[in-house]
Formats: sequence, structure tokens, C-alpha cells
Amino acid sequence: MAQYLALKAEAEDCLLFYRMGDFFELFFDDAKIASAVLDIALTARGEHDGERIPMCGVPAHAMEGYLARLIKAGHRVAIANQTETPEEARKRMGSKALVNRAIIRVVTAGTLTEESLLDSRTANWCAAIGEAGGSVAIACADISTGRFEIIESSADRAAAEIARLSPAETVVGDGSAFDELATVVRPRIDFDSAGGEARLKRLFGVATLDGFGQFSRAALAAAGGLAAYLEHTTKGALPFLRPPRVTRTEAAMAIDAATRESLELTISSAGTRRGSLLDSVDRTVTGAGARLLGSDIAAPLMDRPGIEARLDLVTHFHDDAGLRDMVRGALRAMPDIGRALGRLAAGRGSPRDLGQLRDGLDGAWRLAERLEATGIPPLLADLLPQMRGHGALIDLLGRALVPEPPIDAANGGYIAEGYDAALDDLRDAGAGGRRAIAALEAEYRTRTGIGSLKIRHNGVLGYHIEVPAKNADPLMAQDSGFTHRQTLAGVVRFNAPELHDVAVKVTQAGAHALAAEAAHLEDLTTRALDAREPIARTADALARIDVSAGLAERAAEGGWARPHLVEHACFEIEGGRHPVVEEAVAKSGGRFVANDCTLSESSRLWLVTGPNMGGKSTFLRQNALIAVLAQAGSYVPAARATLGLVDRLFSRVGASDNLARGRSTFMVEMVETAAILAQATPRSFVILDEVGRGTSTYDGLAIAWAVVEAIHEDNRCRCLFATHYHELTRLAERCDALTLHHVRAREWKGDLVLLHEVAEGPADRSYGLAVARLAGLPPVTIRRAKSVLDKLEAGRAATGGLAAGLDDLPLFAAAAIEEEESVDALRAELGTLDIDSLSPRDALGVLYRLKGLA
Ligand code: ADP
Repeated sequence: MAQYLALKAEAEDCLLFYRMGDFFELFFDDAKIASAVLDIALTARGEHDGERIPMCGVPAHAMEGYLARLIKAGHRVAIANQTETPEEARKRMGSKALVNRAIIRVVTAGTLTEESLLDSRTANWCAAIGEAGGSVAIACADISTGRFEIIESSADRAAAEIARLSPAETVVGDGSAFDELATVVRPRIDFDSAGGEARLKRLFGVATLDGFGQFSRAALAAAGGLAAYLEHTTKGALPFLRPPRVTRTEAAMAIDAATRESLELTISSAGTRRGSLLDSVDRTVTGAGARLLGSDIAAPLMDRPGIEARLDLVTHFHDDAGLRDMVRGALRAMPDIGRALGRLAAGRGSPRDLGQLRDGLDGAWRLAERLEATGIPPLLADLLPQMRGHGALIDLLGRALVPEPPIDAANGGYIAEGYDAALDDLRDAGAGGRRAIAALEAEYRTRTGIGSLKIRHNGVLGYHIEVPAKNADPLMAQDSGFTHRQTLAGVVRFNAPELHDVAVKVTQAGAHALAAEAAHLEDLTTRALDAREPIARTADALARIDVSAGLAERAAEGGWARPHLVEHACFEIEGGRHPVVEEAVAKSGGRFVANDCTLSESSRLWLVTGPNMGGKSTFLRQNALIAVLAQAGSYVPAARATLGLVDRLFSRVGASDNLARGRSTFMVEMVETAAILAQATPRSFVILDEVGRGTSTYDGLAIAWAVVEAIHEDNRCRCLFATHYHELTRLAERCDALTLHHVRAREWKGDLVLLHEVAEGPADRSYGLAVARLAGLPPVTIRRAKSVLDKLEAGRAATGGLAAGLDDLPLFAAAAIEEEESVDALRAELGTLDIDSLSPRDALGVLYRLKGLA
């Protein structure tokens, strides 16, 4: 109990898997939690402080599956294993021995390497946020592949960056300003920048970090905090990490968490990959390719040359279907060498992982040879050398391993014949011995006349002779040449001197052969790990080729176009489509209607009106998605697309479509809208869908009105604004870069026909009742609504309507100037006042004057 409690204290808030023989047991609250999550029996064992101790357990050999479910449910698990055998413990302590146990590993969502616990198509990031001297950095590692990145960010962009990465775990130091983003809090001292630098140098075995680039203090704090956490979970055995790649937040299009959610970039609103943009463009054929595409789409680029280089490679595969098929076929057959390498480096590698490296590297080499040609795009020319150059290793692994090495090394059999003459001899001896045993069995049968006599093997007796109990008597005789070993229910077991001699040889040869194989395994693993950096680069190169060929495939399939990127902030889309909605519409037998969108300096802001279900949201989103795809280096779902780079992308949907996160929906809507007004620049792209809807009509209209004006006058970004406030169309008269558009609809024989076509000008009416009829509201309710509407409209005509009086409102900028002027006048007046010399009567006069100025 003392040992358990000490380990439990060390495990902190992790569930403790405590090894007892063939089981991992959990006790106390851990047992209650685990039995509920795993749906296994909760029992009790012994007593502690007079109470029965709750307990549950899982078989050690089936541990992975249980671990997976606990991790998925958000738990972390510390594994306490036995670190000596019972015999060793007895030698140490005598008969009342307790075997030593220690926590050998902490399994957490962000530090997995097991194939069965990971999704092959998603990167598994563990992130840490560091702060120093007012700046902020994020370090993140995917230890299943060794990728390690440091992002120099800032306090206001850290949340968006975390949303992009969507890490399995986010670690911060105790007392951090970012604890809202964290899933794990570690001691503050781990996030000290000086300590971080020392830790990184140790990790990479270097005397200076200069070779990796420049690190800010915040970057060192973040990377140090991350390394400390990884060290903690692996109990000191640090995983393989590649040298960090340092990026700045500005290198990518800024997309905040709300925008990612509303555009469903990599995860759909249902929380799945299905239904997301990523899922609908993903035609990659390898796990590494899918992971890279995911990170490309999550972080569209901001540099034109980088984007064009990616696009050139997509074009290369797009224009040559034969080449594309060849590449995709070759990649499909290749194993995931990045993750095989990760497992080997984490010390959990198997013979099969080495086999995967051999096949993957060999495949990469061959593919590179077939891709070599004159006039290939520069990016491809850069990738090809990275895919070759492991000749010696491929050759070594090819000679050393059998074609299909097993996952489990325990039974041997993975080193190929002919690789090691001594091993071959041992195997011959073993095989010879087994033949001799078979011969003995035949001989014993003849000698005893018992046809069912068998020579068997088990862990306790080793090789032995087994006969049915009814035949056993003659063998029991003193001079039979057999020694009795064991009597069981139906059988009796014997030994014999000749059998013993052969058995010793077989067992010894087997043990020696196993040991020899294990030594080779270790040696081969070391040699593979010596080349881990170049192997990881090969894996990267293959992933980039997979992404490009996959995007080319998608483009060919959907008739997509290569976007044309320009310097000025325009956005001209001809025949644009929404890839996800298009698929859904096609599935239900419909046809998606393509729409143009032309934003330019003179028409920066489109106000889109029209009936519900008319296609406004779809139109808005498809244009935002086109910007994301273009800057990720993909073709886009349009006939033609020309756009200037988008530095920040915002998408907001009016409340009620959005799930609140603890705040009222309207509050969320306003907080998110405020962020746009604060951050959008003239290079940004904003879509606003029914903003202002979350409150009363008057409030909503007023807010929508003010937001449109602010975006038009202050932010001056490209913007699509969908609204059902028809009154907003009056803004067109005063905002010169605002134009009116609507989604077309027609009433035909009393039915509403939605054309999903975006046309110029305002919608002529709202069709609300027609939509209600379409939705199946009872005719009597519709009729009643119609008479209410007639009354309202009559009232509106009489008063000038909801927006009556708005025409007298000064323009946004003018309003601001007027306000400032009156403040100046007030100030001037107050400045000249000599309060001490004022009579009460004069004071009253001054107050009247001031009121007149305000
Ligand atoms: P709104 O925002 O105007 O209420 P949505 O954009 O949500 O309308 O579109 C409603 C539905 O209409 C979509 O789910 C889709 O089935 C269909 N739709 C939208 N746009 C198109 C289009 N361009 N072509 C065909 N169907 C469309």
C-alpha cells in the first residue's frame, strides 16, 4: 500500500496503471473512473483506513485498447511497471519480498506513438505556450513523426494559432496568462527561457542553438516547457525530435478560432473530419500526405513565391493524368515511414517498423527515378534528392530482414537467412534438434506400442512425453526407461534421458538464436536512427508529392481552376462553387449553381439580401474557402479566379446558428464582431452572415448598420455581408464602395422557387411567408401571418418604415468628426472659465451655454 500510494502521488492527476502479474490494476477513485469509462467490473480488494478499496483491472497484453479509450475520454495514464522479477526481489529481501515498481511512462493524448492509438491522417500535436518580455511563442511537437515547430506569435494571436494547430494537448506554466487554452498546467520553472535554452542544447546535443536559427526568449521558454513536459511523460527517455522549424505567425493567413469553426476548415460543425473543407478536397493516399494537407489548409501561406511553387507542382500533376496515376499508385503502396521512425526512436519499434522503413525508402528511391525529367518544377527538383540517398541502409535492411517482419520480436524469425552465418548455424541446430525429437516420438511409439503417444512442450516441464492415463502403466515400471513427471486428469507425462539431451540442445540453440536476432535488431535500429533526419526529410518529400498529386486529382475531378495571384487587393471569382455544399446538392440529385463574385477597390463591400434558404451563406462561405484554398497552394472550385493575398480572414455568423461557449449567443456575436473591427486591414477578407440577428429588430438593424459603415469607412477590407434587413440597402446611397446584390427567387403558381443565383441590385421582397409555406407551416397559420403582415406594411407605409429617419443620419465619418468638433468647443469654453469669480447666476448661464455646445 505504501508503494502504491507513493507511486500514486508521483502520478499526480493521472490515472495509475499498477502492474500486478499479468494485469494492470487501478485502485480508489482511479478504479471508479476507469471502470465507468471502460465499462468493466468494479470490485474491491483489501482495506484502507477501515474501508474496502475499490479496484478494477485490465489484462496487460490487451492494455493498448483500454488505454486508447481512456485517452479519448480525456484522461492521462501513468504506467507503473515491475522493474525486477519476483526472484530478484526475493534475493534482495527474502521471502516476504515486494517487487520494485516504477512509473515508466505517462501516456497522454499529445505524446502517443502507438499506431493503434493514433489516427494516421491527422498530426498529433503537443503544444506549449511560452511568454517572456511581453512576447509569446508556441512550441509544438508531433512525437509520432518527430516534427517540431516553434511559432513566434503574439498575445492576441496565440489563441488563433492554437486553434489552427488544434493540439491533442496544450501545456502552459503555472500562472500563465493563457491557462484558458491549456489542458495541462506544469510548474512555472519549466517555462524559464534560460533553462529552456539549456534543455534544448541537451536535447539536440549541441553547444549552441545558432545552427537552428534565431530564437526569442519566448520561443526558448515555450520549447523548454514542451521539452520538460515530454521528458516528464517519457520519464527521461526523450523522444526523437527534429531540429525546430521557426515560423512567425505573419507567415500564414490569420484565421481565428471562430472563423475556423464557422468555415468548417478541418473539422465540421458536427465535430468530425467528414463534412469539412479538408475532407472534401483530400485525395491523398498516404497518412503523411493527409497530415500535411491538413496543416496546409489550416495555415494558408502569405508569400506569393511559396504559393506559386506549390501550384506549379499541382499543375505538373494536373496536366498529366498518366503521371498522376503512376505517382498515386506508387505512394499508395508505401508504408508510413515517418511514424515507423517515430516508434523506433521512442524505443517502441518493432521488426515490422524496420521492414516499413526498408520498403518505404526503397519505394521513395524508385519513385524519384520515375519522376526525374527535364523541365520539372523547381519544387519537385528540390524534393527528388531528398527521396534518394539511403542506398546503403535499404541494402542493409534488405539483406537483414525477412520480407514480412512480425510486429512482435519475442519469437524471433525476423532476421533473414544468410545475413549471419552463426545465426543460421544456431537455427540449423534447432531445426536438427526438432527433427531428432520427431524421430524420438516415432521410436517411442514403436517401443511402447502406444499410437497416441506424443512429445509435447510447455513452459514448466519443457519437452516431455505424454500418454493417455489408460496406457500409462507400462511406462511407470522402474525399468521402462521413462521417468514419471506429472499425472493429470486424462494424461500422464514422462521424461526420458535421450529426450532430455536433445531438448537441452534445442532449447539452448533457440535461446542463442533469439539473443542473436535481438542483437541484430538493436544494431539495425541504431543504424536506421543514425539516419533519422534524412529519413524524416524523405518522408516530408513524399508527403508533399502526395499532397500535390492529390490536389491535382481533386482539381481534375471537379473542374477546378488554378488561381491567379496578384498584388492589389482584388477578388474576382467567375463561376465559384462551394465544394462541400456542391457534393451534398449533387447527392440529392440537384445541380449546384455557380456564382461570380467581383470585389475591387470601387466595390469592396457586397451587401447580399434575399430569402432564407436562398443561398446567401453558401455564397459567402464559398468565397472565403476559395481564398483559403488558393493560398494553401490548391486549385479552386471556380472557372476563373484572380485575387490579391488575404492577410486575415474573418467569418461571422449571426447568433442562434452558433453554439455559445458559456456566454449568451448575442454576446458571442458581438465579441466576435468587435474583433473584426479591431483587426481587419485593407488586405483582409471578411464575411458576415446575418450579424445583428441575435437581438431585437431595432437593435439588430442599428448594429448591422453601424458595423457595415465601420467596415466600409475604417477597415476598408473586402467584405461580403448577408442580411435580411432590407433597410440596409439604403447604405448604398452613402457608401461609394458598397454595392447591392441578392439571391434570386421567384414565386410561381403560389410556390417559391429558389434559384440560388446571385444577381445585382437589392432583393425586391423578403419571401418570408413563402419560405414558411415551403417549410410546411399550416395554411391557416400562413393566412393569419399574411393578414398580420398586411397590417404591419400599412403601418410602415404611413410612418416611413423601420428605417424612417435614418436618411437624416450623418455619415459614419462625418458623425465622428461632428462629435470631435463639439468636444473641442466644450474644451475651449471650459478652458476660459474662471470658476472662482463666477456668481451663482453667471454659473447657471455658463451651464446653459455648455449644454448648447454639446
Ligand atoms: P441562406 O443563407 O440564404 O439561408 P443557404 O446558403 O444556407 O441559404 O442555402 C440553403 C440551401 O440551399 C443549401 O443547403 C443548399 O442545399 C442550397 N443551395 C445554396 N446555394 C446553392 C447553389 N449555389 N446551388 C444549388 N443549391 C444551393
